[in-house]
Amino acid sequence: MKKIGIPRGMLYYEYFPIWKDFFEGIGFEVISSNRTNKEIMDRGILYSVDEACLPVKIIHGHVDFLKDKVDFLFIPKIMSIYKREYCCPKIIGLAEMIRNSLDDLPEILDVVYDFNKRRGPEKAYKEIAKTLGVTERQSSRSLKKADKGMDRLLDWLKSDILPDNYAYRKDFKDLLLLGHSYILFDDFINMKVVEKLIDKDINVHFPEDISDDIARKYSNFTKKRMFWTHGRRIIGASNYVIMNHKVDGIIYLSSFGCGLDSVFTHMVSRQAAKYGIPFMNLTLDEQTGEAGINTRLEAFLDMMKWRDSHKDHISSFR
Ligand code: SF4
Repeated sequence: MKKIGIPRGMLYYEYFPIWKDFFEGIGFEVISSNRTNKEIMDRGILYSVDEACLPVKIIHGHVDFLKDKVDFLFIPKIMSIYKREYCCPKIIGLAEMIRNSLDDLPEILDVVYDFNKRRGPEKAYKEIAKTLGVTERQSSRSLKKADKGMDRLLDWLKSDILPDNYAYRKDFKDLLLLGHSYILFDDFINMKVVEKLIDKDINVHFPEDISDDIARKYSNFTKKRMFWTHGRRIIGASNYVIMNHKVDGIIYLSSFGCGLDSVFTHMVSRQAAKYGIPFMNLTLDEQTGEAGINTRLEAFLDMMKWRDSHKDHISSFR
């Protein structure tokens, strides 16, 4: 059976269930790389350009892990997921970057998804099927089945980073962890922040917990329409929890080298300050020492708890 490799990085964290079910449905074996570790990151840094953001560097390491084990690599060019919205240029150009950075790669299936040009998933999957010598009928039957797999996406993502039997705890503080899915749900990149927060008696919430309809509605408070899909989700989810006082604090996990994050962190921090919600930005880079992050987390959580008993004082986080 021929093997399709799906690197565990970037939009893997948004589409893996549908991709896996689709390829298995048309008769291929799907192999994904291991969870990110130091070796994968180091190899990614070695092969990618210096200017790339951390998630882009890391996905190079995942591709290097897979390249000799599979017949094809699946790295789609996801230009746009919604009409009049776009993905980050580094997501769009990922397949090209990888092609130019790594040698001896198997064939890359880099089909284009572009909802602005009516090249939605149906068309894209049909094209993949044609390349792989599969009939259109088989491909649309498999796609229909695979689509249902997306219902379990969030549970599947959380199962990787939350302890077994984790449940919401009523008297604990609530915190929104913001950022891109490939940072929030990769516990190597984020240095196990989720586990650390849970150990400190915090209920952790993610932007993905908030429905797309709500996020869309609350992203409309910016002066200019947010045309980055991932930014719209981050800004919409944070506006919703801030404006409705749903959480006691917000931590934004941003990536070193991410131009979009540098804008979104400012937008969220300003809105949080306006509504009196503590906010902290943690920028993640290639360093793997955890002491710095632990100190900042502890200080932030202390401050969050301290505010309860000092509500009438001038807040220290502004
Ligand atoms: S949005 Fe930021 S982190 Fe994500 S690929 Fe683009 S530059 Fe990198």
